[in-house]
Amino acid sequence: MKKLHQAAHNSSKITSLRIHPDLLDPIEYRKSGLSLNHIVGCPLNCTYCVRHLFDNFEMKQPEALMSDEEAVEYLIKHPFFQAHKTPLQIFNRATDPFLPIVKPHTFSVLENLDQRGLRNHILVITRSKITEDDCKWLNSLSSLKVTLLITYSGIDDERIEPISSDIAETSLYQAYAHAVRYRVIFYWRPIIPSLNDSSKHIVKAIELSRNAHATVFTGLFYREQIRKYFQDNELPDLYNEVARRKILPKQLELRIIKAFENAFPKAGSLFRKTSCAVSYAHNLPDYNGHYGIRELCSICPKQQINRCAKFWKTPSFNEVEYLAKQMGSPHTPQIKGGAIEIDGLDEQRRYYIQHALGYQVHDPHYPHLLDQHGRAPIG
Ligand code: SF4
Repeated sequence: MKKLHQAAHNSSKITSLRIHPDLLDPIEYRKSGLSLNHIVGCPLNCTYCVRHLFDNFEMKQPEALMSDEEAVEYLIKHPFFQAHKTPLQIFNRATDPFLPIVKPHTFSVLENLDQRGLRNHILVITRSKITEDDCKWLNSLSSLKVTLLITYSGIDDERIEPISSDIAETSLYQAYAHAVRYRVIFYWRPIIPSLNDSSKHIVKAIELSRNAHATVFTGLFYREQIRKYFQDNELPDLYNEVARRKILPKQLELRIIKAFENAFPKAGSLFRKTSCAVSYAHNLPDYNGHYGIRELCSICPKQQINRCAKFWKTPSFNEVEYLAKQMGSPHTPQIKGGAIEIDGLDEQRRYYIQHALGYQVHDPHYPHLLDQHGRAPIG
């Protein structure tokens, strides 16, 4: 595997045997977009990191699987990539795109895509330092729809999150103050009872929400591997069971929504879903078709609900059946309750269809549960 500084300039092949096989493919389709991750490794040590799921948490030095040019070629030739349509993400699985050593690669990929005239959304999620020069550079892009999502938790237990939330707070102010062409999301997560859910934390979040085009709040992924890491390192057990989806206790969700409502108009617009906030920030309808799950929109600004209502359209059965077959499902899809159900497809193929149609696509084995908003049923 190439060292980071070499990889930007040289051609290379993926050769590492030290990396979990799932990380060796730099492209993964996630709910918020097709995600490019050709740099792996992070020194920030957030103990709840999803890198535990790939056995990669101990890799502190970011390294590149291939050059930036190769990565962009790989992305735009990927069977799931659609020019101007597929939402994209960069370095959101195994590193932070604004680490000083990673940032040149983030910018190199953005520049390459932008120079091709691509108008896709691109989501850049970070908790690192953003400078005024970074903001100027991002404003110079002319084609991509760039959104910076600044992750902030407010957790001050350094055993759990060694990096100070002050860095993200300063980045948020900086990014929002200089935003011209790109948009800024206050990405408040993970919210965990007794760690960062006090009234003081909520008041602080409301204050920060005023410095973003939109705010997303969400809970914690607490999977087996993450829980085991906490147990092995004598850290507090955050929940007494693990879950497939993010955990955000209902009462806590309601408390946050109420506090934002009470603070109106001195609170920013609050969203449950990342794609809703990103779309709103760009004055566009949600690209994930969440509008079909009506209760999700209960906290959304009226003008945005109207925007989504205008755009959202139930696809024809023939269209859905064609795409399901094209993706390899042997089953007949169903359209019901504002969503499509397709059996026999993995998550990535379902997201492809979801973004192609702007309509929710679910696995019938994990149906949407009323008022769960995609959260785990525990907590
Ligand atoms: S109207 Fe609903 S689907 Fe559209 S952005 Fe708002 S919450 Fe999301």
